[in-house]
Amino acid sequence: MAEAMERSENRRHILVAEDSPINQRLAMGLLERHGYSVTVVSNGQEALYALEGRRFDAILMDIDMPGLDGLAATRRIRAAEQGQGARVPIVAVTTNDNATECIQAGMDAHLSKPLRARSLRRTLARVFNNAAA
Ligand SMILES: [Mg+2]
Repeated sequence: MAEAMERSENRRHILVAEDSPINQRLAMGLLERHGYSVTVVSNGQEALYALEGRRFDAILMDIDMPGLDGLAATRRIRAAEQGQGARVPIVAVTTNDNATECIQAGMDAHLSKPLRARSLRRTLARVFNNAAA
């Protein structure tokens, strides 16, 4: 019991910012299958609120969202991190090829929709490696 609790507390926690319920379910299903703990929000503003409340190990960030979109949210997250000594890995999830814009906004990687299990797993492994280095 104690060991199980400890293990669940050590699980990596991923924040998914995505406005489409179908894509929310897809991301959540894939991440939970890989053993991640998942919190889902529907836009960039909600992502900022979620980050005020707790630490996440990575963010999967949709680009097109109502209100604060993924690029604007990422810029705000990076600005808020200045001087904090912490940097959360952010992976863009995009429908179009705007990789340069994503990197310029401060994202670490990007994935094309629809999410696929293998590329998601590989990309998260890579950003966790880079974050640890
Ligand atoms: Mg969207």
